[in-house]
Amino acid sequence: MDPETLFRSLGGGDAGGFPHIHSPVHTTPAGTPYLRHPGVAMIARPDVGLEGLRGFLEGFDPSLGFLGYLDDDTELTPAARLCKTAGQTCYASFGPRRTRNADAQRYFDNLSSSGHGSVYEHATFSFLCYGISRSNTHEVIRHRAGTAFSQLSQRFVSGKVLRFVERPEYRDVPSLHKRFEERIDSLAREYAEVTEELAALQRDGYAPLAAQQRTDVRKRVQQTARSVLPNETETVLVLTANVRAWRHMIEMRTDPHAESEIRDLYLRIFLCLRRAEPLLFGDYRVESFPDGTYGAVTDWRKV
Ligand SMILES: Cc1cc2nc3c(=O)[nH]c(=O)nc-3n(C[C@H](O)[C@H](O)[C@H](O)COP(=O)(O)OP(=O)(O)OC[C@H]3O[C@@H](n4cnc5c(N)ncnc54)[C@H](O)[C@@H]3O)c2cc1C
Repeated sequence: MDPETLFRSLGGGDAGGFPHIHSPVHTTPAGTPYLRHPGVAMIARPDVGLEGLRGFLEGFDPSLGFLGYLDDDTELTPAARLCKTAGQTCYASFGPRRTRNADAQRYFDNLSSSGHGSVYEHATFSFLCYGISRSNTHEVIRHRAGTAFSQLSQRFVSGKVLRFVERPEYRDVPSLHKRFEERIDSLAREYAEVTEELAALQRDGYAPLAAQQRTDVRKRVQQTARSVLPNETETVLVLTANVRAWRHMIEMRTDPHAESEIRDLYLRIFLCLRRAEPLLFGDYRVESFPDGTYGAVTDWRKV
């Protein structure tokens, strides 16, 4: 399937070059909120000012024509410009025989097909991800190289933002869906009751919950009460990664062997990245699998 069509069919939108695919919030009849899909929103992408190179380029013999590097009528996205300039710096490819922006696709195809992915590490993109479960993020945060994570704290944040995530396998099976809704109602109630009981004990001076500092008061209670929360509790992540790391994660995590919820997350991230950066993610094809899901596949894995 065409990635842009899939992006649109999932409700994708674009806030001035920052794509997003949001996820609606549902509630049980008793009012417990939950989500059925990950929501992803790109919140940061590179900003590049190559004019700063002028003083550097002027320092070479004018006959090399390096200053012409700054005259290129073809606009690239900042991330593509950054990666291309980083790569061309390696060979001092600033003169008239360099690959011009109009041929950037060929330039990146050469890099990817030969596995020279290090220049992709210069460009980073950040996403806010929600509607994802704690079991999902337990896997997401296993990625290390080129990544940064900030995750909602179950110690600091109270039950007011407590939401849950329904697994894809439950959604269309009425009995499992009913069990899910009943379970999260009961867990939300249990969490509230345990929190209340712990807070009362703390007020009465119960030593294991005693807080030395004001900021520790709630934490002492909530770090204990969270023990009743299940894997299907929602969490929120800001996930930053460079293009090389994004490519690796997308390949591993949209693969049909990966876990279904994480595949949904990375497919959505991929669709946003593909939309924002066709030169850096355009080699991926969207393939549909027999279970009705999609994955991103490229001939140049792990550049
Ligand atoms: C389908 C699937 C099933 C999985 N099952 C399990 C499981 O049962 N149990 C489990 O514990 N984990 C499991 N994992 C997690 C997996 O083992 C990795 O921890 C995770 O995918 C992170 O990927 P990565 O190692 O490529 O690391 P990343 O941090 O994404 O690194 C990217 C690449 O950089 C290089 N790199 C990174 N760090 C180092 C390093 N320290 N030394 C050398 N090279 C490095 C490697 O080439 C690596 O592939 C599973 C993952 C998938 C996709």
